[in-house]
Amino acid sequence: MTQTVAFIGLGAMGWRMATHLPQHFDSVYVWNRNFSKAEQHAEQFGTIAVKLEQAVQADIIFSCLPTSQDVEDLIQPLKLKAGSIWVDCTSGVPESAKKLQTTLATQQVQFLDAPVSGQTIGAENATLTFMVGGHQDAFNQALPAMHTMGKLIKRVGDAGAGFAVKAVNNMMMAIHLCAAAEGFTTLKAHGVNLNEALDCINASSGKSGVTESALPQRILNRSFPLTFALPLLAKDTGIAIDLIREARLSAPVTGLTYSLIQSANALAEPDSDFSTAVKLYESWNNIILES
Ligand code: NDP
Repeated sequence: MTQTVAFIGLGAMGWRMATHLPQHFDSVYVWNRNFSKAEQHAEQFGTIAVKLEQAVQADIIFSCLPTSQDVEDLIQPLKLKAGSIWVDCTSGVPESAKKLQTTLATQQVQFLDAPVSGQTIGAENATLTFMVGGHQDAFNQALPAMHTMGKLIKRVGDAGAGFAVKAVNNMMMAIHLCAAAEGFTTLKAHGVNLNEALDCINASSGKSGVTESALPQRILNRSFPLTFALPLLAKDTGIAIDLIREARLSAPVTGLTYSLIQSANALAEPDSDFSTAVKLYESWNNIILES
């Protein structure tokens, strides 16, 4: 039975995800680039702050960094433990997952791309969705550990499939965000009460995750809390557009949304939440989406 797990990258997601592990495992190593965060995590949640070289001696190693490049750079010089499983919860690049699966296999380590959905609240409540790519046996072995942090955990295919599903999911969310910005800008221009309109739409066919949560909880109340940074959404739309280009598909809505999110990101203040992308529409139309 697995006794030791590790979590690498205690950011907005990783910090919260790693809090659940000590309830289920005897030893939970944590490591963060800014190491004082790891020490603080250990103090608060009973994890063990260790050097990276020790963290990667765990039986199951979770990582959650901004990009696949960050994960590749981190792994590259490391000596790993044969028989262990690396579960990467970064929203990453499918090609990178295939590469890491192959390179880690030379050290007898299995790699799973296991990005998550559910935002920081899902990480806090252990209700994340895990979309996992990789070998079935590695998935089966890592499943109990993933279950400590998630609710719906699906193996969606071989290496890279998890990252692909996550990129497409986030591209669809970005499309919904642009659709909601356009729809509610139109309603505001026509003097409609946005709160009442939102109630109607959320009981109708135009609703989405954006109208159900981002619009009321972040945009219309002008709070824009930073929990999922706009540059990360811009990165995800880039991964999705690459998937479309690689397969030589026609996907005009995706292409346009990609450009809109990149523009919004280029113009945004530092440390902007993804929901601030609607400010692009606000600046064009001189209409503020406030209820
Ligand atoms: P954050 O920016 O909050 O945290 C990033 C973490 O990665 C920090 O611990 C940071 O360390 C570490 N890090 C950054 N660069 C490096 C590096 N080069 N080497 C080692 N460590 C590094 O990001 P999130 O937690 O929000 O996101 C992490 C991943 O999860 C992303 O891929 C994101 O797209 C995805 N995601 C995010 C969600 C959200 O709601 N926030 C939801 C679902 C997925 P340090 O503290 O030292 O800066």
